[in-house]
Amino acid sequence: MQFTHEHREIQKTLKRFIDEQINPHVDEWEAAEIFPAHEVFKGLGKLGLLGLTKPEAQGGGGLDYSYGMAMAETLGHIHCGGVPMAIGVQTDMATPALARFGSDELKRDFLAPAIAGDMVSCIGVSEPGAGSDVAGIKSVARKDGDDYVISGQKMWITNSLQADWMCMLVNTSDGPAHKNKSLVMVPMREGGKLVKGIEVAQKIRKIGMHSSDTGLIYFDEVRVPQRYRIGQEGAGFIYQMQQFQEERLWCAASTLQSLTNCIEWTVEWAQERKLFGASLSDQQWVQFKLAELKTEVESLRALTYQACEHYIAGEDVTEWATMAKLKAGRLNRTVPDTCLQFWGGMGFTLENKVSRMYRDGRLASIGGGADEVMLGILSKIMGIAKRPVK
Ligand SMILES: Cc1cc2nc3c(=O)[nH]c(=O)nc-3n(C[C@H](O)[C@H](O)[C@H](O)COP(=O)(O)OP(=O)(O)OC[C@H]3O[C@@H](n4cnc5c(N)ncnc54)[C@H](O)[C@@H]3O)c2cc1C
Repeated sequence: MQFTHEHREIQKTLKRFIDEQINPHVDEWEAAEIFPAHEVFKGLGKLGLLGLTKPEAQGGGGLDYSYGMAMAETLGHIHCGGVPMAIGVQTDMATPALARFGSDELKRDFLAPAIAGDMVSCIGVSEPGAGSDVAGIKSVARKDGDDYVISGQKMWITNSLQADWMCMLVNTSDGPAHKNKSLVMVPMREGGKLVKGIEVAQKIRKIGMHSSDTGLIYFDEVRVPQRYRIGQEGAGFIYQMQQFQEERLWCAASTLQSLTNCIEWTVEWAQERKLFGASLSDQQWVQFKLAELKTEVESLRALTYQACEHYIAGEDVTEWATMAKLKAGRLNRTVPDTCLQFWGGMGFTLENKVSRMYRDGRLASIGGGADEVMLGILSKIMGIAKRPVK
């Protein structure tokens, strides 16, 4: 896949915004364990960057997924993982099903403001008792007249403290676990206050992704009109599995630049650092390790671009997206870890950019489907796993 002039222009616009409006504040936001999502998203929305692949009718760019991927890649210039992840939730995790299956009313009231950067979104799948086992979620939407009345808990929710709405996976009936779920749009805040029945019970402290606000959210008899359901009742599990494909492609694409930066910073450091009468980069071991890491990242790039091409062609990309997500998870552990070693004690300090990547990147093997879940899907596709992967 070749990036065109248009792809490069979008990347340049985003890079300028990152250099001017994001990176100067990253250290402060990391320390505060939150970043001003409304402010940042409004800036991105004004530049047309939050809806590149979304329909023009809602203010999107109507472009194919390669443009979304070019954007995800450029987000890797942000000097932390938390802010890009929050942006990715808005563009590729909470909105794909809404754009594809949502009614005109839902798209007008929730998608258009998300694209404009007027609303912050979140995706509510995981619960305290069910993360990898998505079918095992317990949150329930009971029907009452024209409404759903929602009760349950969602855990690990990115943008918890700021989101205006949640795309929530919830059980809307009894019956088989893959056929009783729906995706429902749940307004979370009105006039800056949480709506009745919603409580952010805990802001979760983490080893990395500090600038991202992650929370545990309780829902107690929260009333939502049934027309806020995305698409067909009972199709939520399928919609979410499809939505995961975009999330997983995004996860892979968004790590390409950050891993490249990690290697480049380490090359510069190794050239400057003197020991035993020479530069650290004069050690062949260091040269070979860095060369190998670059090769690995370029392999991930080839895999991700290929996945993207299949996606644009309208094919089922479950296998490609799963492999790319798995490889991205693996490399987010090995690249920063190997680089950090070459920084010696400096790599063990909190302020170091590589040490932040080491902490933030660890999530890539867990969030959006753990490595083992990816391996389970691939084993099933390969016909090795005889039993269905739950
Ligand atoms: C910082 C952060 C942000 C997140 N943001 C969101 C969000 O915005 N929205 C949302 O819905 N969720 C979010 N998540 C949740 C994330 O998707 C889950 O943590 C993830 O899916 C794993 O679920 P779990 O934590 O319940 O682990 P579990 O499902 O309990 O799994 C624990 C471990 O078991 C192993 N495992 C799992 N399945 C298998 C298997 N089949 N075979 C072998 N081993 C296996 C894996 O090593 C896995 O890490 C976030 C998580 C974090 C940490």
